[in-house]
Amino acid sequence: MPPKSATASLRDLPKVDTVLAHPEVAGLITAYGRALVTAEVRAELDLCRARIREGNGADATVAALVVSTRRRLERLHTPNQCRVINATGVILHTSLGRAPLAPSVMAAAARQSAQYSLLELDRETGKRSDRDKLVNDLICRVTGAEAATVVNNNAAATMIILNTLADGRDVVCSRAHMVEIGGSYRMPDVMRKAGCRLVEIGTTNKTRAADYEQAVGEHTAMLLKIHTSNYAIVGFTEMASLEELVEIGRRRKVPVVYDLGAGSLVDLKPYGITREPSVPELIKQGADLVCFSGDKLFGGPQAGIIVGRKDLVAAVKKNALFRMMRCDKVTLSLLEHTLRLYLDPARAIEEVPTLELIARSAAECARAARAICARLKKRGIAAETRESRSQIGGGSTPGDDLPTTVVVIKNLGGTPDAAAKRLRMGTPSVFCRIEDDCLVFDPRTVLQGQIIELVSAVSAQRQ
Ligand SMILES: *Cc1c(COP(=O)(O)O)cnc(C)c1O
Repeated sequence: MPPKSATASLRDLPKVDTVLAHPEVAGLITAYGRALVTAEVRAELDLCRARIREGNGADATVAALVVSTRRRLERLHTPNQCRVINATGVILHTSLGRAPLAPSVMAAAARQSAQYSLLELDRETGKRSDRDKLVNDLICRVTGAEAATVVNNNAAATMIILNTLADGRDVVCSRAHMVEIGGSYRMPDVMRKAGCRLVEIGTTNKTRAADYEQAVGEHTAMLLKIHTSNYAIVGFTEMASLEELVEIGRRRKVPVVYDLGAGSLVDLKPYGITREPSVPELIKQGADLVCFSGDKLFGGPQAGIIVGRKDLVAAVKKNALFRMMRCDKVTLSLLEHTLRLYLDPARAIEEVPTLELIARSAAECARAARAICARLKKRGIAAETRESRSQIGGGSTPGDDLPTTVVVIKNLGGTPDAAAKRLRMGTPSVFCRIEDDCLVFDPRTVLQGQIIELVSAVSAQRQ
């Protein structure tokens, strides 16, 4: 039995209808719907009741209930995947969504996906067709490959290639290529799940063409090369080239597969990225299949793009796993429109956000940093600029970082960790780096048009 005073307080609790009749609640009902508002008022009243029973006081006036109900409704309608200004300088930040998508691409895909669209129907014959057709010709055109298909991500692409070509057979792969991408994606485990037997060759630092040659036997289904995207082996090293593998593969009639991961379609060497072979380059060198991510250097949606020999791509598509990995219409639409930007590589550099960020010169970054600094100073926040490096991230190109100029704030109030947390919790959420107890903002990853918003978000968190 609750104490007497509590019983009295319980009796004083307003009725649901009384709260709903409050003039301010009319606006909430218009915005959120009567059923939801009623449910949240009830939940709030239940909470008050529980508090009173426990002997804790509760502000259960109608006005207080309206305020707390509004807060509940706002929380329910706040997007969980909220918008972030990425000032970390990591261009492909997997936890922040990897590649930002081009606004024109998003708009086109939204238009198509909100309505019925020609996903897999041939208009001429009225018969069912293949959804891959939406993107295949474009992928082949921009990569130079004979055939192409797409699945949900590059991990799926690797899995289905292994399972299609090498189920119950041997896959020859260098010890230096036994990558872990993160979490449970570890190459030897993936091979086991795909039903393949891994034949590890060479050593961690050296794998020669002769090692591949010697490993080929009657059970060999594939020579697999994996791009060591998130680490580099340096020093006393040697690695058989793709051309050498292709030569062995052709002679011994074994397909050569390259899991490229990052997968740029354009040559990024002019921008200082030297360790990322481009997809067209690998196709030209004779790889039988290449797979890469849609949301890494390609700068599109999450997808796994598979390109190469027609017969092998056809075999992949016949695998029963294919249905479990196929892309939806939104992804295919985003891919199609991103691919179209690549028809003109100069346009891709300008309009694919990932490439635009990579191509920003050191001078442009410095100019942006000075602009941010000046605006912060106007708001009374002491900041200075310093030369630094931006990273590609997303498990790509270790060692290939880009020159930038960062904005350094020594003190935004409280500890640097506390200030960084306030920035993350703000709207929009801001992510920066902490170095030497300072907050560091890299303008390279701040998208076009976000500078003023960044400055407001930072000054809003000053204490
Ligand atoms: C990133 C990566 C993958 C996984 O690609 P997702 O698109 O994230 O599934 C596989 N292999 C390599 C070499 C990678 O770099």
